[in-house]
Amino acid sequence: MSTQEQIKLWARQLGFDDCRIAPARRASHADDYVDWIEDGRHGDMAWLERNPERRSDPRIVLPGCKAVICLAINYYPGDQPAEGMDYRIARYAWNDDYHDLIEKRLKQLCRQLETLGGQHKPYVDTGPVLERDFASDAGLGWNGKSTMQIHRKLGTWFFLAEILTTLPLQADEAFGDHCGKCVACIDACPTAAITAPRRLDARRCISYLTIENKGPIPEEFREAMGNRIYGCDDCLDACPWNRFARTAREASFLARKEIFGHHLRDFLGLDDVAFNKLFQKSPIKRIKRARFLRNVCVALGNVGGPSDLPALEMAAKDPDPLIAEHAHWAIAQIQRKTGPASS
Ligand code: SF4
Ligand code: SF4
Repeated sequence: MSTQEQIKLWARQLGFDDCRIAPARRASHADDYVDWIEDGRHGDMAWLERNPERRSDPRIVLPGCKAVICLAINYYPGDQPAEGMDYRIARYAWNDDYHDLIEKRLKQLCRQLETLGGQHKPYVDTGPVLERDFASDAGLGWNGKSTMQIHRKLGTWFFLAEILTTLPLQADEAFGDHCGKCVACIDACPTAAITAPRRLDARRCISYLTIENKGPIPEEFREAMGNRIYGCDDCLDACPWNRFARTAREASFLARKEIFGHHLRDFLGLDDVAFNKLFQKSPIKRIKRARFLRNVCVALGNVGGPSDLPALEMAAKDPDPLIAEHAHWAIAQIQRKTGPASS
């Protein structure tokens, strides 16, 4: 068995659904990335501005780096978390934060790599690596017009992780672009955030607006948010390559029942303690109560009715101005659609 085959076998045994190898070189979209940052299309995600060269070249991050081991893990939790829900959450957040689980597996794989010699550096999301470029180079998938990596079997529903290594591994061949004439993801975007194929204006993207954005949701995007309270899957859902997607093997990616089965307005009753308990280990906990309730208020303004007004009126008195302002907006939206509540 070659070294490459041995590593792929270890990856499969650790629960990764795919493992391929890219050469260590400057990322192919490094210049586009710098343009994207200079245009300000990354919004307030200031950490993306730091060290663009390190982010683009694994040889700067790990001197002597020869290869990037690219790994994919399927997280597809299925279609519907529960019947009759009045809110939507991006699928990757239906249960536990994936970072912990993947980091543990990456560290285990690094320990196995150490038996082969060399140095190894694992990354999942957090590291300075333009990971989609390396995944494309490795033939794991290709950079779709949505800007997301598309896998020929897993479609859009997978997490990417990498290990930079000084081992001189034989690289796999790229798979090429298989979007063809399709523009389904661009057409599906409710806020026209994909401004051209493979061009995302994060400031218009509901994922960014509901998760990364710390301030108010700009009014021009509030109605387009619909009932999404954390992230958005529309450009992923639209991709025809999802026809091969299968439910994840990993139980901790499947819908956690405590997060579903509520009414939107129930979330407005969460104080900090209850919020942290409900979203324990969930990625949603990261945005904290104020941003989450901000999102809930917008969703209620879009899909709520008169029965939601008492909860919104309480939220409008919240000492946190972010929650209060969005609650006032939601009340006005509902009253505009249904007329003022009778006293
Ligand atoms: S996540 Fe939603 S808002 Fe963002 S680009 Fe995709 S479809 Fe558009
Ligand atoms: S929806 Fe179509 S254009 Fe968009 S990433 Fe998928 S195949 Fe490519």
